Amino acid sequence: MAELTLDEAQKEVLSLRKKLNDWADAYYSKDAPKVEDYVYDQAYNRLLKLENDFPQLVTPDSITQRVGGQVDTEFTKVEHAIPMLSMGDVFSKDELKDFDKRIQRLVGHPVAYNVELKIDGLSLSLEYQNGRLKRASTRGNGSVGEDVTANARYISDIPQTLPENLTIEVRGECYMGKEAFAKLNKERDENGQEAFANPRNAAAGSLRQLDAKITKKRDLSTFIYTWVNPPAEITSQHQAIEKMHRLGFHTNETGRKLHTLDEIFAFIDEYTAKRNSLNYGIDGIVLKVDDLSIQSDLGNTVKVPRWEIAYKFPPEEQETIVRDIEWTVGRTGVVTPTAVMDPVQLAGTTVSRAVLHNPDLLKQKDVRIGDTVKLHKAGDIIPEISEVVLAKRPADSVPYQIPTTCPSCGQKLVHLEDEVALRCINPSCPAQVEEGITHFASRPAMNIAGLGPKIVKQLIAHDLVHSVADLYHLTPEDLAQLDHFKEKSINNLLTAIDNSKKNSVELLITGLGIDHVGSKAARLIAQKFKNLTNIMQAGVQDIAAIATIGSTIAESLTTYFSQLSAQKLVEELKESGLNMDYLGPDETQEEEIPDNFFKDKKVVLTGKLAHYTRSEFTKRLQSLGAKVTSSVSSKTNYVIYGTDAGSKLSKAENLGVPTLTEEEAISQIK
Ligand code: NAD
Repeated sequence: MAELTLDEAQKEVLSLRKKLNDWADAYYSKDAPKVEDYVYDQAYNRLLKLENDFPQLVTPDSITQRVGGQVDTEFTKVEHAIPMLSMGDVFSKDELKDFDKRIQRLVGHPVAYNVELKIDGLSLSLEYQNGRLKRASTRGNGSVGEDVTANARYISDIPQTLPENLTIEVRGECYMGKEAFAKLNKERDENGQEAFANPRNAAAGSLRQLDAKITKKRDLSTFIYTWVNPPAEITSQHQAIEKMHRLGFHTNETGRKLHTLDEIFAFIDEYTAKRNSLNYGIDGIVLKVDDLSIQSDLGNTVKVPRWEIAYKFPPEEQETIVRDIEWTVGRTGVVTPTAVMDPVQLAGTTVSRAVLHNPDLLKQKDVRIGDTVKLHKAGDIIPEISEVVLAKRPADSVPYQIPTTCPSCGQKLVHLEDEVALRCINPSCPAQVEEGITHFASRPAMNIAGLGPKIVKQLIAHDLVHSVADLYHLTPEDLAQLDHFKEKSINNLLTAIDNSKKNSVELLITGLGIDHVGSKAARLIAQKFKNLTNIMQAGVQDIAAIATIGSTIAESLTTYFSQLSAQKLVEELKESGLNMDYLGPDETQEEEIPDNFFKDKKVVLTGKLAHYTRSEFTKRLQSLGAKVTSSVSSKTNYVIYGTDAGSKLSKAENLGVPTLTEEEAISQIK
């Protein structure tokens, strides 16, 4: 950097800081990043290098000198007695070698590292008092975080109580699994809301909610990896993780204590290859000096611990050419653009399509047909266009024109107030009807086996159905017109349609595809009002009075049933003989088990029980979501013992697995 003068360096430093502050604000405060992580990381590292070469330019407010996040003023503030720091990062194995050399120089000898996956989520602190969860908070700016206790109570893998009467603080990562992330973004697309850029932002946006009920719906998980000031008998990071696991925390099982760089590089290679097959996102590997006393000797800088480092995976990226932009109409009329590209291999799959979510994003990225684009996978799963390679743009390229009419029915498209999405508002638009019928027949709704999207498409193309009501008038002759439909398939489909008439009414409500009314809400509403007539007559307040149903759902439901077209549809379905009553819990549908001490825990029973028989107690625990197994291992969460307990109890004690007397277990159940 000798070529830069101090003035030039200062100019660049100021401009980098301005840019990074702006990006960090979008990322941390709004959970909506403006640029990809690697673009941010490159700018950050450039700033770091300039500040290193020109130390006189370092100021305490530089983003290199403080933890990046902020505290939303609407949350109660939580002062972190021990700051929640960021982490240094490297982008190559050579840089990891340098890190290890530095550690060895400072410590005076080689050290072992606990090597862990770097989970793509946001840090969470959990404080327990006398074994009970007292407070949960985000990292915030490192010294002050946001109180998210109410939200954390809805995350099912966070223990509300510990098996020991401990007053402790643990920290870890709150994340959203890949499936939950894909599902959430699909729902958001369908509802015309902006999709989350990656699982990290989805997790942060779901945890940092003033209305904790939103968090409840979002399917968040945690991996706990730090015990703040653990008791003296815990002397290493890997022991801390083992003990936290035994206390009931969800810890990541892949972490390993490794002694050499070769072993560490092999771990990196292993998880670079396995990364795409994990059901949660990771963005790197973390090396932590395993010995806690060495950790404490090494200490921290103002921003990061000296004893740990993240190796960040290089972004997987491919170039390809956009051949077309397709517009699809969803069930709710939202029209979504998708780039269709020459197929390329990316992060383990062949990719030829990338959703562009909404016209604004398309315009912002200025994607044009014929453009060469860079593709990556957001959160390891969803193909996304990072940017257009302008240098390769054809000379005759013209900006892409956003359609003004529906690709399916030709009606004018509209932007509803406050929505980035473009919508077709024609209720008889064939594409919407097709999506609507497919949804009606789907598993969480009327569950009509054999009536998938391809058959629905054909039924519409043959002019046999125009609404879900028409399904109940189909004849064998009608179905005989469909490709490959013979006597058996005709009978099967007609029987499945006929059987669906007997469904409990919540499946019908789900099937109607009312905005915001998913299967869980439909079930709760049906439970309360017992039949569709009562539901249609219920007011917003009556519906919103149901626990976990908010006014958004209640308003959407009443607006839907106030439409004449909806009332007519219900009348037609009634005439076709569909059941309109709530029939009680469906044994085939898995009921959600409310959070409790034993939910998702591995439990072993041993000894003679005084209050129940073994099988009664097993059933009771299973009904609470526990897995009752017969042998004790380090994965067992609790051993419940009666009198004359033998080897299982002593094995539990040897392994440090928490034990409960029968009475203690019963009191936890109560
Ligand atoms: P970081 O996310 O890179 O690393 C620190 C965090 O890693 C910890 O706070 C912890 O929450 C997490 N972590 C995950 N697994 C862990 C494990 N096993 N052990 C310990 N910690 C673990 O650092 P940061 O300061 O939170 O954020 C900086 C990073 O965020 C940047 O490098 C960049 O990638 C991203 N960022 C992106 C933008 C953007 O606009 N795209 C803006 C700001 C920051």
